[in-house]
Amino acid sequence: MARVKIRRDRLFRSQGAQPPSEDVRIKEIDDVVIQVTQVFCPNGHNLVTESKGLFDGQPGIWLKVSDGTRSGEVVLSPFHGDHARLGFTDFKDGTRVRISCPICDVPLPRLSRCSCGQGDMVALYLTPSLEEGQVVALCDVWGCHRSKVFDQAQLLSAYLEDDEPPALIGESEVPYH
Ligand SMILES: [Zn+2]
Ligand SMILES: [Zn+2]
Repeated sequence: MARVKIRRDRLFRSQGAQPPSEDVRIKEIDDVVIQVTQVFCPNGHNLVTESKGLFDGQPGIWLKVSDGTRSGEVVLSPFHGDHARLGFTDFKDGTRVRISCPICDVPLPRLSRCSCGQGDMVALYLTPSLEEGQVVALCDVWGCHRSKVFDQAQLLSAYLEDDEPPALIGESEVPYH
């Protein structure tokens, strides 16, 4: 099985973020690193699985990605902000991809525009009851690593790339289109 060493020096927590609640089963490591230990598709499939690859010995997040002509499976690091991934990774950076559940193929729901300006943030639920406010948000542009973790609708952790523009106020209110 594939094993990946993560780069802990790239990981960080948002300043002043709340500790994660019990039901999301997020692990905090040294108050800094967030490890996702379960995520669910809209049909309730848990996509954190040991069978697809390990990151520092921990199971990754298994997803299906497609650019409309080709599709494949990818396993993302469970450590928030860590860019390590396994699997099908030869899309060109900047390609807009459809991200879906590899078991039932339901697309992940759209949450908001991504601040990269090229795509949307899509959501994976952190609880089996599919609470709207407890999600991991990922950008659907291949190569954009922006991601955020929300716990009870509060931003718990954000990963923004180095060239991030100043934060928008009320980002979640950016209109859908
Ligand atoms: Zn599913
Ligand atoms: Zn993006």
